[in-house]
Parts: sequence; C-alpha cells; structure tokens
Amino acid sequence: MIKLYYVISRQVSLKAYFFLFIILHSAIELKGSTGELDLYGNPRKYIRIMDKESAYKEYKRCGTRIIKVNIPGSSTYFSPACQKI
Ligand SMILES: [Zn+2]
Repeated sequence: MIKLYYVISRQVSLKAYFFLFIILHSAIELKGSTGELDLYGNPRKYIRIMDKESAYKEYKRCGTRIIKVNIPGSSTYFSPACQKI
C-alpha cells in the first residue's frame, strides 16, 4: 500500500476548504447521491461526477483518465490534469 502525504500552503488549504464546503452543502441540499433513496423512498438528487463507476475512464471535461486513490476508510477520484496536488 502506498501512503501519500502532502504539505500544503495555507492558501491551498483555504481553497480546498472552500470547495469542500460547496460540495458538501450541495450534497446536503440535494438530499444525498443519486442511486440511493431517503427514509421515505424518495430518490436523492446529488449527481457525483467521479465515483467508482468512472474510475480509470476518460474524464469528459479534459480527456484525462480519472485516478482512484485509496484513503483510510474510503476512496477518492480525481483528474490529475484538472485537480493538481
Ligand atoms: Zn481533467
């Protein structure tokens, strides 16, 4: 298993926090991700752009292959061209 550690600047940290807030707020507003139902059987409306279905496929926005990275307890997916570390 490869472990990745990065030291990021305060500016990058604040930018990541800002976009994390936007994404989480959107997901909550739309009551969760599509493909799942709420307690009352209603479909959830947040559409994930990258997930396990899109891993290693071409990202429509830039044509780069989507990368999957395992993190403790979860996985994350990103475009190495658009989302540089
Ligand atoms: Zn990209």
